[in-house]
Amino acid sequence: MKYLAGYPPALLAQVQQLVATEGLSPLLRKRYPGPLHEVQTDRALYDYVSELKSDFMRKAPPLSKVAFDSKLHVIRNALGTHTTVSRVQGSKLKTKREIRVASLFREVPLEWLRMIVVHELAHMKERDHDKSFYALCEHMEPDYHRLEFDVRLYLTHLDSGGERLWASSLPGPAPGNTP
Ligand SMILES: [Zn+2]
Repeated sequence: MKYLAGYPPALLAQVQQLVATEGLSPLLRKRYPGPLHEVQTDRALYDYVSELKSDFMRKAPPLSKVAFDSKLHVIRNALGTHTTVSRVQGSKLKTKREIRVASLFREVPLEWLRMIVVHELAHMKERDHDKSFYALCEHMEPDYHRLEFDVRLYLTHLDSGGERLWASSLPGPAPGNTP
């Protein structure tokens, strides 16, 4: 349950049960029937991010770069360990002018892409995964917490050997498992 570290034990027990009975796949497919979103290139991602940025973060400095990155680890480099306590995520989070999104998000429901983009935009203002950070995320996407949790469920599903659920025919290893 490494992708769900920090969540309440009762919830983890439920997820464990779902993993054991291979119930995560039907649950996620039912919640997100698809189809796959169309933001597939760095250019399309730039446009998508710019639109959200102009809706919510107009005053933030302009973005220098927006790209999908196949080397990014969703938890280690982006979502972090779930916690409401203020925590520094290493020294890597500088003032963010660049937005990199793990390639995994090319092949997920649009809501999840929106969630991760909102997360990265929020880092332009708030460095840590603390209360004000998540408040900003929720301001931009009221369903933020549910969406982030569902992404963690999906990563758990992939980690337990489950197949990618919205994969197109793109080659390459399952991005959630990148070391
Ligand atoms: Zn983060």
